[in-house]
Amino acid sequence: SIQRPRSEQLYGEALQHIVGGVNSPSRSFKAVGGGAPVFMKSAKGAHFYDVDGNRYIDYLCAYGPIITGHAHPHITAAITQAAENGTLYGTPTELEIELARMLKAAIPSMDKVRFVNSGTEAVMTTIRVARAYTKRNKIIKFAGCYHGHSDLVLVAAGSGPSTLGIPDSAGIPVSIASEVITVPFNDINGLQLALERWGDDVAAVMVEPIVGNFGMVMPKPGFLEELCRLTRQAGALVIYDEVISGFRFHYGSSQTYGAFPDKQAIEPDLTALGKIIGGGLPIGAYGGRKAIMEQVAPLGPAYQAGTMAGNPASISAGIACLEVLQEPGVYERMDALAVQLTDALRQSADRYGIPLAINRIRGSFSAHFCDHPVTNYDEAQDTDGEQFARFFRLMLDQGVCLAPSKYEAWFLTTAHTESDIEQTIAAAEYALKTM
Ligand code: PMP
Repeated sequence: SIQRPRSEQLYGEALQHIVGGVNSPSRSFKAVGGGAPVFMKSAKGAHFYDVDGNRYIDYLCAYGPIITGHAHPHITAAITQAAENGTLYGTPTELEIELARMLKAAIPSMDKVRFVNSGTEAVMTTIRVARAYTKRNKIIKFAGCYHGHSDLVLVAAGSGPSTLGIPDSAGIPVSIASEVITVPFNDINGLQLALERWGDDVAAVMVEPIVGNFGMVMPKPGFLEELCRLTRQAGALVIYDEVISGFRFHYGSSQTYGAFPDKQAIEPDLTALGKIIGGGLPIGAYGGRKAIMEQVAPLGPAYQAGTMAGNPASISAGIACLEVLQEPGVYERMDALAVQLTDALRQSADRYGIPLAINRIRGSFSAHFCDHPVTNYDEAQDTDGEQFARFFRLMLDQGVCLAPSKYEAWFLTTAHTESDIEQTIAAAEYALKTM
């Protein structure tokens, strides 16, 4: 089994200087029994190398962005070039136009785009824009959908905070939380009731159209269509948070995903993006219909700005990443490897009588320890966290790195190979047997 003395030592040091020893709470091992997280030193392709020299197959993939594997040569070259050309100008560049064009071509509901630095910023700004446009204040969101750490969307936010047993965050005024209505995902009646009660005050309905924050969860047939119809009927805007789902399942957004035949019926007014579109560097973007986006400064009254926004390094990495994803067959390959892996996981779980609910959407999947389907946050909460923690550690000790949370997905990349999958299957077989 793998030893990690250096990680433990560094964690001790980190605790003295960095709050909780981590720069994002999801990196802590609190939800899987505590102790030192693994300190990584380098990564290449589908593999991590920690400070003790151990190798891991990576399914965390930095919570989504690393879809081409680590240090992909095409992306590395783009970042190097950007660094040599100067990292930040505070002026417009031609690169920004290119990435905006690529996003618009892939996501037709975006007439206009604005780049920001994170998914949090992108989502936060879509809400401001929706409020400016509708001149209303409230938003409706779905329990367990995580939309970043800005005030409004940290109400019943699931994945981040709830993993740590904090349903909401301290420091958010009740007056702000009272502008947010939370309803269960995949429950169109719940949404309908909320809109009947508060509809006239609702600026937007915010949703992860394909959920990535309490497992990978597809909307039930008709859910998005009805969501869009009811929201528009109430005079509110539909905001899709595609920070995880954008470019995850195919080259495009949920709106253009093959699982939804009627594209028109599920078209959002605003879309928030992040993660993959930055190729591993910090980025966010939001966009939507022209008339709505023209609320944004300098054209309109809704203010949003950013010193680092659209910086050449992030934009170059994003362009390069999307170029890799345009290569034929990349999504099909991730899909095929994920099928192989989830089939084997299910067989091993069955062999040892361990209930496991697997939701796979192309090259991403969640595996919840429970004997019921997971279609909403309540069902995701009602899964065995202790069993997950044991599985997580048994996998880690065999060199397979998952996110330290029972809610998070496994992500495949274009860099994972058959051999990675076979090693992972063997590790999972041993883990499930040992548990
Ligand atoms: N929206 C969704 C759907 C996310 O999954 C996340 C991050 N996990 C965010 C927004 C926030 O993005 P960031 O961490 O880049 O601020």
